[in-house]
Amino acid sequence: MTARVLVVDDIPANVKLLQARLSQEYFDVRGATNGLDALTVCDEEQCDIVLLDAMMPGMDGFEVCRRLKANPRTHHIPVVMVTALDQASDRVRGLECGADDFLTKPVSDIALVTRVKSLVRLKMLTDELRMRAATSRDLGIEDPFAEAARASGENGRILLVDDRLSSYDKLNRVLSRQHNVQVETQPQEALFRVADSDYDLIIVSLDLQDFDGLRLCSQLRSLERTRNVPVLIVVDPDDRARLMRGLDLGVNDYITRPVDPNELSARVTTQIKRRRYAERLRDNVQMSVTMAVTDSLTGLHNRRYMENHLGTLVTKSREKRRPLSLLVLDIDHFKAVNDTYGHDAGDEVLKEFAKRVRKSVRGLDLACRMGGEEFVIVMPETDIGVAVRVGERIRSAIAGDPFPIHGGTRAIQVTVSIGASTLASGTDDADALIKRADEALYNAKHTGRNRVSAQAA
Ligand code: GH3
Ligand code: MG
Ligand code: MG
Repeated sequence: MTARVLVVDDIPANVKLLQARLSQEYFDVRGATNGLDALTVCDEEQCDIVLLDAMMPGMDGFEVCRRLKANPRTHHIPVVMVTALDQASDRVRGLECGADDFLTKPVSDIALVTRVKSLVRLKMLTDELRMRAATSRDLGIEDPFAEAARASGENGRILLVDDRLSSYDKLNRVLSRQHNVQVETQPQEALFRVADSDYDLIIVSLDLQDFDGLRLCSQLRSLERTRNVPVLIVVDPDDRARLMRGLDLGVNDYITRPVDPNELSARVTTQIKRRRYAERLRDNVQMSVTMAVTDSLTGLHNRRYMENHLGTLVTKSREKRRPLSLLVLDIDHFKAVNDTYGHDAGDEVLKEFAKRVRKSVRGLDLACRMGGEEFVIVMPETDIGVAVRVGERIRSAIAGDPFPIHGGTRAIQVTVSIGASTLASGTDDADALIKRADEALYNAKHTGRNRVSAQAA
């Protein structure tokens, strides 16, 4: 999981320290020593998460956070406020400004990495939703993603597993202000309750009286029905070994005793949001949008979807300075298949063709039927060399085995010609990209078909 982290602190040595620690985890880290610079970096969409020192001369962290959350271009970027130890009032202010989480100075390594990872996961889901929302908006179809992207982390259904009254009473009081909380005092029962019901979050106390909370966490993670429900553990600060164990088991986040109510609220909200985004994403991908943007014969995306989404992918690649390549595929002499074996046989070939294409590309790639016997594959993070290799793999997957027709009673030889192009630097755009791939395809057709040709920019 790589992400761009912006560390903001008026003391350069503090920036360096966090930068060094995060770089060890392969995060891409940038620094800023004042609020205005931080706002600029965020506005230019150059970061996925912000670690923000609360106390800075001039514009302080609270004001930076408030401005980030008020700007529609930046309000989805998670903000972690870094506050001085025991400044409960800072956390209240932080929450009021919209902070997503807190870290206390001096920042511990586990806390730093856990918080950043948890928020990066959330950011990635939000980005995906935002991107799809933009695409469905452009398509002019009912927009389920926008609704999901607005989903709040409030009114969550929480199961609190804790058998000590003094402890769960306190947690319950904080959480009940915003959520629907059920307390389970018998840890053995918790697993069944979670499997039977639809919780947004499970909170497990690790100091249960006669049950190992980590065992429950491990069971929750291994059971299919509960695997995706976020788990937050409550630990004693000196129980570092079990905390590490819990994080290894796949627990999503933790909070240490004595529990700070604001910290608890922030962390719980983040986990619930993430859960909801992930669910909506999954549901929606399978439903309405799919219907409107899928080619019914082959199950691939249709032209409408491709044309809209390609623009988004091109913009994204440019911004991130990552490669993007495209293949245009056209079945050879397809008209002859229809003419010789009938239109239904032609349809059988198209379906089998799509099946083989789907097998030859990665999940990240976007495969579409543009119409007739013409297909396009968009490949993010792919340079022209790799694109040509993928094209060659598809070409041989098509030519390698005859296609069954007439319900499998016959088989015929099918071949495909493929044109490849890649995004060039400068002012290259989606139309130019397709045009070059079309030219390459033309070239492949005119040099004998059943081949891959590439067109330089
Ligand atoms: P080339 O090698 O130059 O690409 O020749 P071709 O015959 O494949 O190209 P052409 O564009 O002349 O013919 C494409 C044919 O595809 C014509 C059309 O009837 C057929 N076709 C288009 N859509 C469908 C479909 O949904 N099902 C079937 N069975 N055929 C289709
Ligand atoms: Mg054609
Ligand atoms: Mg053709």
